[in-house]
Amino acid sequence: MKIAVEGDLNPYYIETIAMAFFPGEKFRDEDDPRLTARVCLFDRDDGSFSAVTLGDRDGGTASGEDFEPWRADGADRTRKLSSGRAFFKAASALTGYRPPWGIMTGVRPSKLATEFLTSGLTEKESADEIVNSYLAIPEKARLAVGVAKTERELIKPGDDGKCSVYIAIPFCPTRCDYCSFVSYTSPRLLSLIPEYLKRLRDDIAFTASLIRDLGLKVSTVYIGGGTPTVLEPDQLDCLLDSLYPLTENASEFTLEAGRPDTITAEKMKAAASHGVGRVSVNPQTLNDSVLAAIGRKHTVEQFFNAYAIARDAGIGTVNVDLIAGLPGDDPDSFENTCGRIAELRPENLTVHTFTVKKSAKFKEEGAFDREGKDAERSVSVSSRYASGAGYRPYYMYRQKNTVGNLENVGYSLPGCECMYNVYMMEEIHTVFACGASAVTKLVSTPGADGYRDIKRSFESKYPYEYLRESESGLLGEKRKKLTADILSFYREHNMV
Ligand code: SF4
Repeated sequence: MKIAVEGDLNPYYIETIAMAFFPGEKFRDEDDPRLTARVCLFDRDDGSFSAVTLGDRDGGTASGEDFEPWRADGADRTRKLSSGRAFFKAASALTGYRPPWGIMTGVRPSKLATEFLTSGLTEKESADEIVNSYLAIPEKARLAVGVAKTERELIKPGDDGKCSVYIAIPFCPTRCDYCSFVSYTSPRLLSLIPEYLKRLRDDIAFTASLIRDLGLKVSTVYIGGGTPTVLEPDQLDCLLDSLYPLTENASEFTLEAGRPDTITAEKMKAAASHGVGRVSVNPQTLNDSVLAAIGRKHTVEQFFNAYAIARDAGIGTVNVDLIAGLPGDDPDSFENTCGRIAELRPENLTVHTFTVKKSAKFKEEGAFDREGKDAERSVSVSSRYASGAGYRPYYMYRQKNTVGNLENVGYSLPGCECMYNVYMMEEIHTVFACGASAVTKLVSTPGADGYRDIKRSFESKYPYEYLRESESGLLGEKRKKLTADILSFYREHNMV
């Protein structure tokens, strides 16, 4: 389909809103005779006015208009609001669908809520602004403001002078059908693990010395995947040991174990003895037939066993990941899952919404449901259970291609929040990352306007490429450049 934009407006912004209405479409295909939108933006001295016409190949047409008076928070936002709402009105009229987050296109809705709260608006005024200017439904506006409020309580002065560290283990015992993360699963690729760990330990030592040279304190360390507990107990032990220089004074150390079928008493004991205080044990659903249908090769019973093993090992904080809107699941079955998890009372509960990734089997089978009514009800059920059991939402994010254009929310019992997630989402300080597909995110302290500069540095995507660097002798040069880039970023922002 085609979207033509006239006026001082980035077409990508309108395309991002359009994705919620027309999932899977490409918007710059000149030869595609399907749906065409024309977005006209008229800049006026006192604000902006936009008009949109939209027509589909079946002859249906719709239009929308909107006006945004001049805003103190910027001409760019003024233009975006008028054109975004005009497009939203036309697309809603044409499709009969209203995305729950309105024209909020960002990955982190709570950032906008934080901005409003920081500017002096009350919680109610901030939520009203999200509803009225961004057309989000009130439930979502309240969620964004609630998360922003909790984050403001959790983030302490001085947190931005510290750093966190992420360690990637992109290997899993088998591949779940809905997954398109970088993760090696075949026996041939899993055989690379010993070599991978050797290089990873070397990178960890390099990163630890870089952090020391910068004079930074490590606040949190997070081992993610893949499935980190795919490692054998001795491999895990060795990895955890190598992390000691980073974890020694950190206030939080997470091992995202993940798949229940990989969690054993020996591994959990190794984790606890190295100071891991938080693990994630992820069933996604407590419905065996849904687990089988999504190709997740473990049972509900295995989840409960793994959870008990983590507890028996003395892990203080356990997170449980669930997915709302899985194919074959429904709100009643998801309610049963939420009820049983609430009884279990893990300190953290993370509810994702099912996302159709490009390479996943479900997209090929056309399982994407734009409106996602079942997912929407399931998400509401999880929010009700979480608040009824004393959890509060403390971080959240949105992804593309999520069923029903819904969100992912992290809940916690008060005082047990995972600060790594908060620092990552709110971009409070630098997160150094080691391992294939890992991304180091350099974050500056805020300037006078509150703006933080951010620079990313990407590791090789696949373990094979990552290992090849060591063989080809390129690693030394790469580290030299990385060190120079990081130092120059820290100097530029007067952080060293
Ligand atoms: S366990 Fe997670 S990362 Fe591994 S294949 Fe399944 S969804 Fe993907």
